[in-house]
Amino acid sequence: MNNNLVTKNQLLFGLSLLGCSMMLNANEPKPSPKLTEVWQPVPQKVSAKPIPSDAIILLNKGVDVNAQWQHTNGDSVKWHLQEGILTVTPKSGSIISKQKFCDMQMHLEWRAPRKEERAANAPGHANSGIKIQRRYEVQILETYGRPIYVNGQAASIYKQSVPLVDAISPAGDWNSYDIIFKAPRFDEQGELVKAANISVLHNGILVQDQYEIKGKTMYVGEPKYFDAHGCEPILLQDHGGKISFRNIWVRPL
Ligand code: MG
Repeated sequence: MNNNLVTKNQLLFGLSLLGCSMMLNANEPKPSPKLTEVWQPVPQKVSAKPIPSDAIILLNKGVDVNAQWQHTNGDSVKWHLQEGILTVTPKSGSIISKQKFCDMQMHLEWRAPRKEERAANAPGHANSGIKIQRRYEVQILETYGRPIYVNGQAASIYKQSVPLVDAISPAGDWNSYDIIFKAPRFDEQGELVKAANISVLHNGILVQDQYEIKGKTMYVGEPKYFDAHGCEPILLQDHGGKISFRNIWVRPL
């Protein structure tokens, strides 16, 4: 008899063993779905409208602007405030938040002046910007129908990242930015461990998708992380244009 041949009896024996083990498995208790449920900690309840209930409100009707902002030299804010709308007084200087921020979600609305409202000494594109941590600029610029280098147009990470699409509103209409910013990390020697990261929605449309910031915004030359830093203020830029702001809030993350 050939040893390599499986006899009919051997085959039947094997099949019966398989049947037994299947019956045993069927009798084992099934794992409970509870094993993969998480019950703690419970997320804090936050109501969303009109402003998240856990947000720090930096600008709105009834907010004391000088409690939240100051001139970069420490003076009071010289910009024009009316009904919760703060408009750059050209050449008066940029302003910074009094509070410092690290990782955050930020909401801000801005409006460029119509042609006839532009500052006489700044007839070009009305320019401003949000410099997060005084370093990393999300561009604010009146570029509706006005071509410019695309890594400098509105909602660019200035001179670093072109917005995915152009979602800008015409001059005179409001724009919203919703920003999620993760601050850079440095080690004890001051070396960069993790670059800053930013996502931006412009008028609700994703325009910057987890972009890794290359360093401090530079007008000339390459961006770079020049210094290790912790939490820092938000700077709103006076760049000569009569840009208006309203409804600014931050949720530290
Ligand atoms: Mg700018």
